[in-house]
Amino acid sequence: MAGMTTLEVSTRQRTEMVDVTDRVRKVVEGSGVRAGVAVCFVPHTTAGITIQENADPDVTRDVLYKLAQLVPRDDAAYRHSEGNSDAHIKTSLVGTSQTVLIEDGRLVLGTWQAIYLCEFDGPRRRRLYVRCMGEGG
Ligand code: ZN
Repeated sequence: MAGMTTLEVSTRQRTEMVDVTDRVRKVVEGSGVRAGVAVCFVPHTTAGITIQENADPDVTRDVLYKLAQLVPRDDAAYRHSEGNSDAHIKTSLVGTSQTVLIEDGRLVLGTWQAIYLCEFDGPRRRRLYVRCMGEGG
């Protein structure tokens, strides 16, 4: 039956994009939902979730590179005492949820698309909630 599933994701670097597609796919296929949506939600303020290309690893590398350039780690004007304002800002840019369609009991993604948990202040243990909703669940 369709309930909320919690996936644990251990990250290894301060900034990193972890491909969680296969784990989300398993949740969807085990949910019993035939047609609907999978809502993927990251309950953190310094980690997010996005959909991006998985064929060429340079794509995620370039995304992280450009985010780092847009949002420097150190900025004398930051006030947040934890010293991780860059991670908070990057999380707001990327967002903390993705909604993916489910059709015929399977996750619908484009050929080159993968779902990535985006770590911006790791390494840490992160959680990803997945809730499948729709017909048949
Ligand atoms: Zn903070």
